[in-house]
Amino acid sequence: MNLKSYIRTVPDFPKKGIMFRDVTTLMQNRIALSQSIDDLYSLIKHKKIDIVCGIESRGFIFGSPLALKLGCGFVPIRKLGKLPSETVSIEYSLEYGKDSIEMHKDAIKEGDNVLLVDDLIATGGTIQAAAKLVEKAGGIVSAIVFLIELTDLHGRDKLKSYDVYSLLEYEGE
Ligand code: AMP
Repeated sequence: MNLKSYIRTVPDFPKKGIMFRDVTTLMQNRIALSQSIDDLYSLIKHKKIDIVCGIESRGFIFGSPLALKLGCGFVPIRKLGKLPSETVSIEYSLEYGKDSIEMHKDAIKEGDNVLLVDDLIATGGTIQAAAKLVEKAGGIVSAIVFLIELTDLHGRDKLKSYDVYSLLEYEGE
Protein backbone atom coordinates (compact mmCIF):
# COMPACT_ATOMS: atom_id res chain seq x y z
CA MET A 1 0.00 0.00 0.00
CA ASN A 2 1.39 3.40 -1.00
CA LEU A 3 0.72 5.52 2.08
CA LYS A 4 2.11 8.65 0.40
CA SER A 5 -0.79 8.58 -2.03
CA TYR A 6 -3.14 9.20 0.92
CA ILE A 7 -1.28 12.32 2.10
CA ARG A 8 -2.49 15.55 0.55
CA THR A 9 0.05 18.26 -0.23
CA VAL A 10 -1.29 21.80 0.13
CA PRO A 11 1.07 24.41 -1.36
CA ASP A 12 1.53 27.77 0.41
CA PHE A 13 -0.11 26.75 3.71
CA PRO A 14 0.06 28.22 6.32
CA LYS A 15 2.28 30.68 4.46
CA LYS A 16 3.81 31.14 1.03
CA GLY A 17 6.53 28.67 0.13
CA ILE A 18 5.46 25.92 2.57
CA MET A 19 4.33 22.59 1.11
CA PHE A 20 1.97 21.44 3.86
CA ARG A 21 1.77 17.66 4.19
CA ASP A 22 -1.84 17.14 5.22
CA VAL A 23 -2.25 13.80 7.01
CA THR A 24 -6.00 14.24 7.61
CA THR A 25 -6.60 12.56 4.23
CA LEU A 26 -4.63 9.52 5.43
CA MET A 27 -6.35 9.51 8.83
CA GLN A 28 -9.84 9.53 7.33
CA ASN A 29 -9.17 6.32 5.39
CA ARG A 30 -9.53 3.30 7.70
CA ILE A 31 -7.12 1.09 5.73
CA ALA A 32 -4.41 3.75 5.38
CA LEU A 33 -4.72 4.74 9.04
CA SER A 34 -4.47 1.15 10.19
CA GLN A 35 -1.53 0.44 7.84
CA SER A 36 0.36 3.53 9.05
CA ILE A 37 0.02 2.42 12.69
CA ASP A 38 1.15 -1.13 11.82
CA ASP A 39 4.14 0.23 9.87
CA LEU A 40 5.15 2.66 12.64
CA TYR A 41 4.92 -0.21 15.11
CA SER A 42 7.20 -2.38 12.93
CA LEU A 43 9.87 0.34 12.99
CA ILE A 44 10.14 0.49 16.79
CA LYS A 45 8.81 -2.80 18.14
CA HIS A 46 12.33 -4.04 18.99
CA LYS A 47 12.91 -1.11 21.36
CA LYS A 48 12.39 -1.22 25.11
CA ILE A 49 9.49 1.15 25.71
CA ASP A 50 7.59 1.79 28.95
CA ILE A 51 5.52 4.76 27.88
CA VAL A 52 4.64 6.69 24.72
CA CYS A 53 4.69 10.52 24.60
CA GLY A 54 2.91 12.22 21.69
CA ILE A 55 3.21 15.86 20.68
CA GLU A 56 0.14 18.06 20.26
CA SER A 57 -1.85 17.49 18.26
CA ARG A 58 -1.21 15.02 15.44
CA GLY A 59 1.28 13.18 17.63
CA PHE A 60 -1.73 12.20 19.77
CA ILE A 61 -3.50 10.59 16.83
CA PHE A 62 -0.58 8.35 15.87
CA GLY A 63 0.90 7.96 19.35
CA SER A 64 -2.16 6.67 21.14
CA PRO A 65 -2.83 3.60 18.93
CA LEU A 66 0.91 2.89 18.94
CA ALA A 67 0.84 2.86 22.75
CA LEU A 68 -2.04 0.37 22.67
CA LYS A 69 -0.12 -1.93 20.30
CA LEU A 70 2.97 -1.71 22.51
CA GLY A 71 0.94 -2.37 25.65
CA CYS A 72 1.97 1.01 27.12
CA GLY A 73 0.26 4.09 28.45
CA PHE A 74 0.17 7.41 26.60
CA VAL A 75 1.30 10.87 27.75
CA PRO A 76 0.38 14.10 25.94
CA ILE A 77 3.01 16.81 25.44
CA ARG A 78 1.04 20.02 25.01
CA LYS A 79 1.34 23.71 24.28
CA LEU A 80 1.59 25.89 27.38
CA GLY A 81 -1.50 26.34 29.57
CA LYS A 82 -3.58 23.34 28.45
CA LEU A 83 -2.71 20.80 31.17
CA PRO A 84 -4.60 21.12 34.46
CA SER A 85 -2.12 19.75 37.01
CA GLU A 86 1.50 20.53 37.91
CA THR A 87 3.72 20.55 34.82
CA VAL A 88 7.32 20.57 33.70
CA SER A 89 7.94 22.80 30.68
CA ILE A 90 10.62 23.80 28.21
CA GLU A 91 11.10 26.81 25.95
CA TYR A 92 12.49 26.52 22.43
CA SER A 93 13.26 28.82 19.52
CA LEU A 94 11.08 29.14 16.43
CA GLU A 95 11.95 30.84 13.14
CA TYR A 96 10.55 34.02 14.70
CA GLY A 97 10.35 34.14 18.50
CA LYS A 98 9.93 31.37 21.03
CA ASP A 99 7.43 28.70 22.05
CA SER A 100 6.99 26.33 25.00
CA ILE A 101 5.69 22.81 25.51
CA GLU A 102 4.89 21.00 28.73
CA MET A 103 3.83 17.72 30.26
CA HIS A 104 2.43 16.67 33.60
CA LYS A 105 5.19 16.34 36.19
CA ASP A 106 3.91 12.95 37.40
CA ALA A 107 3.28 11.55 33.90
CA ILE A 108 6.50 9.57 33.60
CA LYS A 109 8.55 7.86 36.25
CA GLU A 110 12.31 8.32 36.80
CA GLY A 111 14.12 5.99 34.38
CA ASP A 112 11.10 5.23 32.17
CA ASN A 113 12.00 4.34 28.58
CA VAL A 114 10.04 6.75 26.42
CA LEU A 115 8.95 6.55 22.79
CA LEU A 116 8.39 10.04 21.35
CA VAL A 117 5.87 10.32 18.50
CA ASP A 118 4.97 13.11 16.11
CA ASP A 119 3.42 13.13 12.65
CA LEU A 120 6.25 15.03 10.97
CA ILE A 121 9.79 16.30 11.43
CA ALA A 122 10.65 19.54 9.64
CA THR A 123 13.48 21.56 11.27
CA GLY A 124 13.46 19.25 14.30
CA GLY A 125 13.08 22.10 16.81
CA THR A 126 9.85 20.80 18.33
CA ILE A 127 11.00 17.23 18.80
CA GLN A 128 14.39 18.32 20.15
CA ALA A 129 12.57 20.33 22.82
CA ALA A 130 10.26 17.38 23.54
CA ALA A 131 13.24 15.07 24.03
CA LYS A 132 14.82 17.55 26.46
CA LEU A 133 11.49 17.82 28.28
CA VAL A 134 11.28 14.04 28.72
CA GLU A 135 14.82 14.05 30.11
CA LYS A 136 14.00 16.96 32.42
CA ALA A 137 11.10 14.87 33.76
CA GLY A 138 13.48 11.95 34.45
CA GLY A 139 12.74 9.79 31.40
CA ILE A 140 15.11 8.15 28.93
CA VAL A 141 14.35 8.73 25.23
CA SER A 142 14.42 5.18 23.92
CA ALA A 143 13.35 6.10 20.35
CA ILE A 144 11.70 8.83 18.30
CA VAL A 145 9.32 8.00 15.46
CA PHE A 146 7.64 10.11 12.75
CA LEU A 147 5.20 9.30 10.01
CA ILE A 148 6.90 11.88 7.74
CA GLU A 149 10.44 13.25 7.50
CA LEU A 150 11.20 16.34 5.39
CA THR A 151 14.75 15.32 4.58
CA ASP A 152 15.88 18.64 2.99
CA LEU A 153 15.52 20.38 6.34
CA HIS A 154 17.97 18.02 8.08
CA GLY A 155 16.00 18.03 11.33
CA ARG A 156 17.59 14.68 12.13
CA ASP A 157 20.92 16.49 12.68
CA LYS A 158 19.47 17.94 15.90
CA LEU A 159 18.74 14.42 17.16
CA LYS A 160 22.15 12.79 16.75
CA SER A 161 22.14 11.34 20.27
CA TYR A 162 18.79 9.56 19.73
CA ASP A 163 17.48 6.58 17.83
CA VAL A 164 15.29 8.19 15.13
CA TYR A 165 12.86 6.44 12.74
CA SER A 166 10.55 7.75 10.02
CA LEU A 167 8.16 5.94 7.74
CA LEU A 168 7.91 8.28 4.73
CA GLU A 169 10.48 10.71 3.37
CA TYR A 170 9.76 13.85 1.34
CA GLU A 171 12.53 15.71 -0.44
CA GLY A 172 11.89 19.02 -2.21
CA GLU A 173 8.56 17.91 -3.66
P1 AMP B 1 9.71 21.38 13.33
O1 AMP B 1 9.81 21.80 14.78
O2 AMP B 1 10.22 22.42 12.39
O3 AMP B 1 10.32 20.01 13.10
O4 AMP B 1 8.16 21.28 12.99
C1 AMP B 1 7.45 20.15 13.31
C2 AMP B 1 5.99 20.43 13.58
O5 AMP B 1 5.42 21.37 12.66
C3 AMP B 1 5.25 19.13 13.45
O6 AMP B 1 4.44 18.97 14.60
C4 AMP B 1 4.42 19.27 12.18
O7 AMP B 1 3.13 18.82 12.41
C5 AMP B 1 4.46 20.74 11.80
N1 AMP B 1 4.95 20.97 10.41
C6 AMP B 1 6.10 21.60 10.05
N2 AMP B 1 6.25 21.66 8.71
C7 AMP B 1 5.18 21.03 8.19
C8 AMP B 1 4.75 20.71 6.84
N3 AMP B 1 5.47 21.07 5.75
N4 AMP B 1 3.60 20.04 6.68
C9 AMP B 1 2.86 19.68 7.76
N5 AMP B 1 3.19 19.93 9.03
C10 AMP B 1 4.34 20.60 9.27
